[in-house]
Amino acid sequence: MSKKYSKFETSVIHEGYNAKDMLGSLTTPLFQTSTYTFDTAEQGERRFAGDEDGYIYSRLGNPTVKVLEERIAALENGERGLAFGSGMAAVSAVLVALTKANDHIVCSSGLYGCTFGLLTMMQEKYQVTHDFSQMETSEELRSLIKPETACIYVETPINPTMKLIDLEMVSQVAKEFDIPVVVDNTFSSPYLQRPIELGCDVVIHSATKYIGGHGDVVAGLVVGKKEFLDSVQMTTQKDIGGIISPFDAWLLLRGLKTLPIRLDRHCDNAEKVFEKLRVHPKVANVYYPNDTSHPDYPIREKQMKRGGGVISFEIKGTKQDAQKMLNALSFLKIAVSLGDAETLIEHPATMTHAVIPEEFRRDMRITDQLIRLSVGLEAWEDIWHDLEQALDSI
Ligand SMILES: *Cc1c(COP(=O)(O)O)cnc(C)c1O
Repeated sequence: MSKKYSKFETSVIHEGYNAKDMLGSLTTPLFQTSTYTFDTAEQGERRFAGDEDGYIYSRLGNPTVKVLEERIAALENGERGLAFGSGMAAVSAVLVALTKANDHIVCSSGLYGCTFGLLTMMQEKYQVTHDFSQMETSEELRSLIKPETACIYVETPINPTMKLIDLEMVSQVAKEFDIPVVVDNTFSSPYLQRPIELGCDVVIHSATKYIGGHGDVVAGLVVGKKEFLDSVQMTTQKDIGGIISPFDAWLLLRGLKTLPIRLDRHCDNAEKVFEKLRVHPKVANVYYPNDTSHPDYPIREKQMKRGGGVISFEIKGTKQDAQKMLNALSFLKIAVSLGDAETLIEHPATMTHAVIPEEFRRDMRITDQLIRLSVGLEAWEDIWHDLEQALDSI
């Protein structure tokens, strides 16, 4: 699509919406309707035949959802956006659209637990196989690509170990083989990282996280080339049906307006908490993309505006000590998810990544001592004091 505004901070507020089209309504109206009436039977025929533009039924399109889809496309600098009822509805719609039986997927060595579950299911039911790649060098990545490889699927930063993958390197290798690169950009949001600008083809978000930002919506978004997303819309989205509700699209449009402001605060707070965690005697390792001493730091500088709001750390102790630490928190919330105003803390090995078999979990460096922290928007001093007293209790 052609973007109207060049600056991100203006696009998040205005892109894709024209108040003049909507009786001057400042905010995007909520079209809470399942279906649309036709003036005549012939008009219904023309709409179904695609000879006339206009809405038919909300699984096939909704005006509130359309504003969200145009806005996210502009923010990721892609041609078209599509909204889904969850991040996993978005991931599954894309992967099912890109593959057929007996195809192959190369994926990053760490994956969101349910994405791992989906790949396992696709292997069992449709013999779509996958290989994990460290994606540290182009040689290693190239060596895993087969004639039947349908796509490369990447998460960066990798959840929950915060390892980074060089998206420009991955997209260059993919171009040699003419296969698409799909990036789950949930942890960064388009404010911090825009994979399409680095040569990748499809971007997926769990909009549940930073894009919504307020812990009140489960939703997913996809951005990519118009031709591909038209086909996703008319196949996996229309016929499998994982669409977003208009109200959730409306909430996401509201959340998006403050994305840059929120993200800057998340990053400011995370930088402060990271500095404190790394010198705490009960903390063995801290993983944060903005760690200047980390070997991946040059990738952070190259492709991410800032380090983001998620930090993982390993405590010195056992699984029980990790659980004891979480139980000792006074106001920080034990919860999965991330990107909310509230600081959220969880234990990946027994929560978000519990579905992953132990051997894979070990390869992904998800130990029993690892804790994931989504740094919220509270005063960083309060966040740290609560963490510090909980760490001191073990
Ligand atoms: C949460 C998450 C998902 C899944 O999104 P839902 O909205 O929960 O379906 C996918 N990928 C990443 C990286 C996530 O954090």
